[in-house]
Amino acid sequence: MLIEKINAWAKLCPERIAHRQREKTLTYAQLKTSSDALAMWLDDQRERGEIRRGTPIVVYGHKEPEMLTCFIGCVKAGFPYIPVDSATPPERSRQITEVSGAWIVLSPQHLPEGIVQTGIMVVDDLVVDQEGNLGLAGRDNLGKSSFPLTEWQVPEYKMRTVPTCIQEDEVYYIIYTSGSTGVPKGVQITLRALESFLNWVNPAFQPEEKNEVFLNQAPFSFDLSVMDLYMSLSMGGTLWSVDKDQIANPKELFASFYASGISYWVSTPSFAEVCLMDPSFKDTLLPLVKRFLFCGEILTHDCASKLLQRFPQAQVENLYGPTEATVAVTTLTITPEILRTFNPLPVGEVKPDALVLICDTDQLSAEIAAGGGSLPHRPEAFPEGKQGEMLIAGPNVSVGYLNNPEQTGKAFFTWQENDVTWQAYRTGDAGIVKEGLLFYQGRLDFQVKLHGYRIELGEIEENLRQLQRVENAVVLPIERRGKIDYLQAFITSGKSVEDEFAAVLALKEELRQHLPEYMIPRRFKFLDKMPMTPNGKVDRRTLLGGQQ
Ligand code: AMP
Repeated sequence: MLIEKINAWAKLCPERIAHRQREKTLTYAQLKTSSDALAMWLDDQRERGEIRRGTPIVVYGHKEPEMLTCFIGCVKAGFPYIPVDSATPPERSRQITEVSGAWIVLSPQHLPEGIVQTGIMVVDDLVVDQEGNLGLAGRDNLGKSSFPLTEWQVPEYKMRTVPTCIQEDEVYYIIYTSGSTGVPKGVQITLRALESFLNWVNPAFQPEEKNEVFLNQAPFSFDLSVMDLYMSLSMGGTLWSVDKDQIANPKELFASFYASGISYWVSTPSFAEVCLMDPSFKDTLLPLVKRFLFCGEILTHDCASKLLQRFPQAQVENLYGPTEATVAVTTLTITPEILRTFNPLPVGEVKPDALVLICDTDQLSAEIAAGGGSLPHRPEAFPEGKQGEMLIAGPNVSVGYLNNPEQTGKAFFTWQENDVTWQAYRTGDAGIVKEGLLFYQGRLDFQVKLHGYRIELGEIEENLRQLQRVENAVVLPIERRGKIDYLQAFITSGKSVEDEFAAVLALKEELRQHLPEYMIPRRFKFLDKMPMTPNGKVDRRTLLGGQQ
């Protein structure tokens, strides 16, 4: 089991660095000692506060090694964790804490005001010392300490036995993704789902035990980071995080790459594309890199071929999958032969214990609804060459969105086959099988990927409509050279806008209270009225036409 493996590395190679972020490090021994202490402390709080096992815990921060202590400590105590990156606006962080029903927020940072609603316990400024001892400074969100303000790991915690950690069918982590109704959705991933992912990628990509350094580019609140974090921890590797300030400063970033010893590169293709703009991004900068693992958005032919030219010793993998199916379900090694044969690139073959079916899901919807969320049989898949919606089924599929039966009912369903219950997810992705390989063919709804970030346009629109000066809002992706370049908002406000420049600045500022920076539209256009189609929907095509 995953936690046992991580504990075993602490015994076998206690001094090996499990996580590095700049000069801050956490060894496997420190991770074990500090996460055990946290688990025992949480168990004590659970008893005192009569907290139900399985109630989520928010872990707030940005790539600090202590975040790993928090993740593993929560899981060891029987609580799933919700990673929230500190770049998230306070209002959105508060919303996630609230809708998830979290009972405590843990953070290595000092929590800013307004992130936590009343009644929730806060442990911030959490530190791990050289010996792996844990320093906790606790308070409730009114600033009053609800337990001794600084509670270093005291002998009694060493005496307690570590509580029962998360079991296979229990939720291990919850990741919040953009929600079209205006509220983010919490994808619940069980230990079984996570292990099904690891049992596939570790043998497939063959990291050597105790020998690899994994790049961590994505914040822990994005499921791409699950790949680097847990491939690394399960194989005794070193997770090597680059933080947002390093990413914003290419000179510093490249200097740190040189010293990193990265052997497994895990990132969005967008991040690699930015790095490739610098000619020094090649094998002399990262001589040990063996594999590039990409997921989360289209890997372009251009990006893959440049990487193969500049890193002839490395393999490039195109993985495909949504957060709801635990990071990825298909992969393809991009060889020169693949590059010669395909453009766009396929996303490859499906992991052995899962299914990807191309279906007519509109037809399925009625049957699923009639069956109360389950089908009496396996959905019928289209033959090769016919496009449809991709359905993913298998042990890696999420059990649904936390506290959100409505959205869960729309996206997830089950069917029974030879005593096995298949859990299935409607991806909203269009796909096709050709020559035995799966191809991604865009979205069937209003979800987009911008620089690797998953965004429901409906969530931005809903947040805009909440603002005083906005009557109606539509947000559209504007493409350049076949890729989404930025988002544009079209607004009606019911009255004439005199100073458009000032109005746009004000709208952006207000939106920033609720949405992360990557969701703020770059351009705004005020309209007297929305163009409508004959059947009464907003005419997005006309709006887009006006842009070109
Ligand atoms: P996320 O949940 O953030 O990982 O986003 C999942 C969505 O990203 C999928 O439903 C796809 O639309 C898109 N996606 C993931 N991997 C790929 C890929 N290799 N190629 C194209 N799109 C991808």
